[in-house]
Amino acid sequence: MITPSRTEPTRKALLIGASRYRRHSYGDNHPLGIPRVSLTLDLIRAYGALTEEEFQVSRKATPAELEWFHTREYVSAMQRCEALGKVYDRYRQRHNIGNFENPYFPGFFATPATATYGSIQGAERVLEGFMAFNPAGGMHHAAPDAAQGFCFFNDPVLGILRLRREGLRVLYLDIDAHHGDGVEAAFRSDDQVMTCSLHMDTSYAYPFKGGGIEDTGPLNNAVNMPLPKGMNDDEYRHVFGRLWPAVLEAFRPEVIVLQAGTDILGPDPLGKFHISTQLFLEVVERVINDAPRHSDGTPRLLVVGGGGYHPLMLARCWAGVWGLLSGRELPEAIPPEGEALLRAVDWDQDEEEDYFEDLFTSRLDRLVEGEVRREVRERVDALLSAHPALVRGGIMLEKTVTAG
Ligand SMILES: [Zn+2]
Repeated sequence: MITPSRTEPTRKALLIGASRYRRHSYGDNHPLGIPRVSLTLDLIRAYGALTEEEFQVSRKATPAELEWFHTREYVSAMQRCEALGKVYDRYRQRHNIGNFENPYFPGFFATPATATYGSIQGAERVLEGFMAFNPAGGMHHAAPDAAQGFCFFNDPVLGILRLRREGLRVLYLDIDAHHGDGVEAAFRSDDQVMTCSLHMDTSYAYPFKGGGIEDTGPLNNAVNMPLPKGMNDDEYRHVFGRLWPAVLEAFRPEVIVLQAGTDILGPDPLGKFHISTQLFLEVVERVINDAPRHSDGTPRLLVVGGGGYHPLMLARCWAGVWGLLSGRELPEAIPPEGEALLRAVDWDQDEEEDYFEDLFTSRLDRLVEGEVRREVRERVDALLSAHPALVRGGIMLEKTVTAG
């Protein structure tokens, strides 16, 4: 009898990438100047967990596609900067580019445009009956006319707009450590999209405004769960376990877009939470299991990347996400080729920590005991009892009659 390999896919999922992510972007002194998508793909391949059929190459989004959301002036400014090899002052001032936050780098237009098309392409594959994962995406802060928070083009918005063209009701869930402000703002006036973001309270974290429990938007289609520093696994499980069923019940989506930034993971240098890789994957698995289905049972789910500034944590975590999406049971031990890849990354920020060596040999973390603080319980209680859509449960948005 032949035992099937544990790395055979059991679900219909596609992984979207491009060779240009191998080039150095953002520059040496930027938190995103680290290997992310390329390291993730290499680690997945070291596990033997990606077939040629499952891998999709993304092209660049065209200006016309980017202009579904972005202004023509901004898109052409990005193109001109790439052609000129620098950012003019008038562009810097108007579009918030060419500064430390959103620096110039070779491939200034092409790289974010490719990451952006990946989310449109992912939406199209979802429409065709697959799950899709675009780890280069998730740039949730970008605004129509400006870069914000390391994000040039807002690929989650464009992916959602592609799904909206088919008339689908889209639930956007954002588990990045930062508030998904750009996506929320984009759909303020579309009651067929609900955005739900769990994040570091903006009283102490970027973007330093918005994202409060009371920020529900004029149509009550925004759900925001601001959380205190130091969130542990038990706390996050408690909050998510209460909030998620209420959101699903209230909105009843036809498709889900998940922004899976990894900066909630404990060792992340910019995040202030202490979430483990295991708990992150538990949340992703719950989303997969609860997603609406195609007729063959495949979840209607697009996953995009997002923040994550610890390359080793990020690659381990997103390899695990791909394992869940494609229905593979990846071994906990990182295979020798994978360990060599991770050790080759120039990363020593937490070299003194006792978990450091584990980062190279296991894709999971040592679990830390935690308790659920009263403040955390109270916050989720407050959201569930105050949000108009969640209180009424299911009656909002279902069949909105447009006046006039
Ligand atoms: Zn983030």
